[in-house]
Amino acid sequence: MDTDTAASRSRTDLVEGLMARFPHVPREAVIKEDLLRGGMAFDDSALSGAGEDGSGEVKPKSYFIFSFDHGTLPELGAAALNRPPEEVVLTGGPYDLRRTVVSVRVNPSSPYRVKPGDDGALGLYLDGARIADVGLPPMPDYYRHTLANGKSVMEVAPTIQWGYLIYLTVFRVCQYFGAKEECQYCDINHNWRQHKAAGRPYTGVKPVEEVLEALEIINRYDTAKTSTAYTLTGGAVTRHVGGKDEADFYGQYAEAIEERFPGRWIGKVVAQALPKADVQRFRDHGAQIYHPNFEVWDRRLFELYCPGKERYVGRDEWHRRILDSADVFGPANVIPNFVAGVEMAEPFGFTTVDEAIASTREGLDFFMSHGVVPRFTTWCPEPTTPLGKANPEGAPLEYHIRLLETYQDALDTHGLASPPGYGPPGAGRAVFSVSSFMDSMPLPDDATEAAVPARA
Ligand code: SF4
Repeated sequence: MDTDTAASRSRTDLVEGLMARFPHVPREAVIKEDLLRGGMAFDDSALSGAGEDGSGEVKPKSYFIFSFDHGTLPELGAAALNRPPEEVVLTGGPYDLRRTVVSVRVNPSSPYRVKPGDDGALGLYLDGARIADVGLPPMPDYYRHTLANGKSVMEVAPTIQWGYLIYLTVFRVCQYFGAKEECQYCDINHNWRQHKAAGRPYTGVKPVEEVLEALEIINRYDTAKTSTAYTLTGGAVTRHVGGKDEADFYGQYAEAIEERFPGRWIGKVVAQALPKADVQRFRDHGAQIYHPNFEVWDRRLFELYCPGKERYVGRDEWHRRILDSADVFGPANVIPNFVAGVEMAEPFGFTTVDEAIASTREGLDFFMSHGVVPRFTTWCPEPTTPLGKANPEGAPLEYHIRLLETYQDALDTHGLASPPGYGPPGAGRAVFSVSSFMDSMPLPDDATEAAVPARA
């Protein structure tokens, strides 16, 4: 092999080397993790061409909370003007991939590129070689209708995970603001600013009535009932929004949704780890699942990466509140997220995969020993965040693959299963698109997902 060819295959070699070393991790997950940590490029002809009004055939990227891109909108050029798809689905190719849904994170300089082949069919190319067929999400009927005030359903109530989850970022900014408070991997505030600067509709606080109207449209046109869950989320509320504290602000949406559409969807709330009485209010408002995200396990890294949370609440109290909330929701319905990969971000993170995995495993054991099953999203190093700026390549792929193995081992050790509200588990069936923890689950006997357990 000459040097040029060797260089052009370097990412392929990394991927295939890990597939060989970790044969029990599905190959689909190896590709998916690499795409999530490093992004993918698009030929102009593979962009969605969709308009804000739901015109076009492909469901576009909605920018549902963070940018999840490796460049700012001005840096992305055509990919910013002519939106990429929300997700892609990969199948076939030399690795014989089962159906794999991957959230789109745009990186024009990625060795992965989506483009048409000689026959015109879209493919995913790695280092120039075709490695999978690419399917694009069809524009859902409900995106083709607007609210009475002209806003699009995509802006008010976008769906992700191949239509499974309605993602309601009802507060598009965070009250942790600036370098001393914002989480060091989070671009929620930047993303809001860049959409405003681009003249895109991007509502800071979504009125409850608008959310209900958008859900009405989804409910009417989603006749196959693909949408199964909704997530209420947004920035932290350290003071008030519209005169309401965090529990009542987010809770008011759950209450209104459950009143109008009782039991139609699984209701989930992503919020800070709040005191038990506030958590009870979420529950009373009708939420079924609570995500008080712990972000990163290691004490020093939490203090450095989440300075606002550390100052306002503190790590130990944060964890205590997570466990307390299990008394309210039942342990199986408390699902704290962490941002997989920031453990290895320079300059403060662990320098070896072994140390990073050992630390994360300690956190998994801590929560799982109480019956609480965390889950994770794969870190996207957005360039406007301090950690993204310092680590444009993200974490090593080996970390992400070993995390999948460790996570499964921790579940087995504690006798736990995949958390509810994430769709069916298993390679070829999973729809959760921002990490491959669901793709890596053992295949169940049927394609159904776990029901939301009744409160303990
Ligand atoms: S609390 Fe941290 S992760 Fe959550 S929105 Fe605010 S800055 Fe981002």
